[in-house]
Amino acid sequence: MWRIAYTELNKAVEEGVGAISYIDSEWGIKEALQQSNAVFAAFKTHQQYTELKKIVVGDDGKLKSFAAFKRDSKQIIGNYNQQWLRTEYNTTVARARTAVQWNKFQQTPGRNIKWIPSRAAIPDAIHKGYWHTVLPQSDPFWATNFPGNRYNCKCDWALTDDPVTDAPEVEIRPQAGLKENPCISRKVFGDDHPYQASAPRKVKKSAPTAAMRLERKLLLEWAKSELKSTYQLGGSPAVLHTSGIKEILNQPHRDYALKNRILFTLEEVLENAEFIRTDPNTKANPLIRQYHYYKITVNERDSFLVLRELANGERQIYSVVESLQ
Ligand SMILES: [Zn+2]
Repeated sequence: MWRIAYTELNKAVEEGVGAISYIDSEWGIKEALQQSNAVFAAFKTHQQYTELKKIVVGDDGKLKSFAAFKRDSKQIIGNYNQQWLRTEYNTTVARARTAVQWNKFQQTPGRNIKWIPSRAAIPDAIHKGYWHTVLPQSDPFWATNFPGNRYNCKCDWALTDDPVTDAPEVEIRPQAGLKENPCISRKVFGDDHPYQASAPRKVKKSAPTAAMRLERKLLLEWAKSELKSTYQLGGSPAVLHTSGIKEILNQPHRDYALKNRILFTLEEVLENAEFIRTDPNTKANPLIRQYHYYKITVNERDSFLVLRELANGERQIYSVVESLQ
């Protein structure tokens, strides 16, 4: 269940963000939004289990037959994995798009932003009160008002040279879970989303860790089947073994989840890695000759890729660390 929601919503982020490269400033936003989907999917799964648990017992207080449970659970499973997931998908596309757009707007400050009407066949009548509004980028209006702050919103916004209009007369409240600008919060859905807000304190505490573990497991499986290969780094071959994948995933890091997600774009990371220095192996292990360090970027900050060179000359992609000693 977690995997379905996580995979689908990550596709939605890709769709909303569009084609970007690891070196673009949007990369960190995209990866953070996808990582937030892992946590959201954990809360969603918990909420679904909670509802399923409630229907194990009938109105008479007795355990239901399997057939009766199956019949009753069908509705819940359908709601969570089809109907609501579709809404969450559409909303995620819109919010991912909004996040990268807002990021772009910031690069040319001082211009006005215009609210562009919904592209939906049946547009959200509520946002209609905002259509064609033009306000300065710095106007506080944009702090909570943006496309994607209501479910299934298909409105758009853009920088414009059009003159500023009056502020809208209506005040449209964002829906639960959608009030934060996703570019700033780096989350598709906020903590006030009902799946999360209604979860017991214990679950609120454990869900992010559980999500991180699930995501790590998925990444490990995927990387083991797809990434073990010989690459080029600094003009020489560098090989990635399972041990290197595990080491990269296990290494603590201030941006742990994003550091792990560089695996998705490993070739680009290697292409852009910048050689820093070589240190001899000072430990007793005679199999290792030396370590090479390369600067890479994780979430717009420097991190370092560690290449281990064995005595037999093999160069192994060995780890990613946040700083060099
Ligand atoms: Zn809208």
